[in-house]
Amino acid sequence: MAKTVYIAGLGLIGASMALGIKRDHPDYEILGYNRSQASRDIALKEGMIDRATDDFASFAPLADIIILSLPIKQTISFIKELANLDLKEGVIISDAGSTKSAIVDAAEQYLAGKSVRFVGAHPMAGSHKTGAASADVNLFENAYYIFTPSRLTSPETLEEMRDLLSGLHARFIEIDAKEHDRVTSQISHFPHILASSLMEQTAVYAQEHEMARRFAAGGFRDMTRIAESEPGMWTSILLSNSETILERIADFKERLDEVGQAISKGDEEQIWNFFNQARKQRQAMEIHKRGGVDSSYDLYVDVPDEEDVILRILELLRGTSLVNIHINEENREDIHGILQISFKNAQDLERAEHLITENTDYTVVVK
Ligand code: NAD
Repeated sequence: MAKTVYIAGLGLIGASMALGIKRDHPDYEILGYNRSQASRDIALKEGMIDRATDDFASFAPLADIIILSLPIKQTISFIKELANLDLKEGVIISDAGSTKSAIVDAAEQYLAGKSVRFVGAHPMAGSHKTGAASADVNLFENAYYIFTPSRLTSPETLEEMRDLLSGLHARFIEIDAKEHDRVTSQISHFPHILASSLMEQTAVYAQEHEMARRFAAGGFRDMTRIAESEPGMWTSILLSNSETILERIADFKERLDEVGQAISKGDEEQIWNFFNQARKQRQAMEIHKRGGVDSSYDLYVDVPDEEDVILRILELLRGTSLVNIHINEENREDIHGILQISFKNAQDLERAEHLITENTDYTVVVK
């Protein structure tokens, strides 16, 4: 039976979800709320949604499923508002917030005793882009889509959500909200703090040592890439998961102190062990292995020293959805560099490998 889905917040996440839902359920009606007109217009024009409003309460009573895809604070305030609206019996309410305990606690507080169901959710994909204009039907492909069930969730709620979101091609997983926040504090929230601190430290240092800017290369770039993230989102993540994040900071300070002490003592063995252990741990984590959170499918092409090679390759790949393209400089004389092209899934990677090897004599390597 066709359902009515209401997505509140037509930003990157909300609009991408709308596209994913439409892919598998073209008969579902998708209603959209957005504060600004720009994203409402784009979502309507691109057929992501069927109807739009700037009055959140107006569409809520029409929906079988409501997805709040807004900043965490706004998600909580809309949950509060939903508690006072005349909603459909058994409506499912879900969200997309990057931290879960504060949102799940608010749902338990305001929605308990109402004839609604709630399941917290965190689609673990995204980018620094914002707004409906950046929507991508493939955004969640192979990404973890975490549900954090609570007392307001039943097994059927999860089944219905998985069915609704099947077109996202995500990997659904369930985890307790508090544990979600602990785990993400270590592997996501704290690394963002580190990246931004390192960036700031370097920027200040570079005022006195101008060469620092010029010499910063691959390692520095890898360490600071996420410092370009959207500040508003990260502020609300830190404020809604503060206790756990503060623990991570305290723990890290101790670790830094230990390395500092080893250096000042000149303890060669301790320093060696420090690096060696980290190296082994990273290798064991298989962070590059396909299927990890940031999984991508990479192809490497040796780029010969000829004109228009990159253009030629891109021309061959027209219609294949590549997610990133990067030229790794090489010091070999016979080639300009190595072109690294990342794809969203294995099929696109295979297709690209086939196209390039069939149509050129370039060396192609898939790792
Ligand atoms: P976005 O900036 O693209 O969209 C945010 C949406 O919220 C917009 O539609 C905006 O109009 C609306 N909004 C903002 N403040 C509002 C307010 N006060 N009142 C009403 N509407 C308001 O952001 P996004 O990336 O789509 O993020 C949405 C949610 O998804 C956030 O909770 C974020 O934590 C979560 N999330 C983001 C990512 C990511 O990488 N971008 C990944 C996973 C989860």
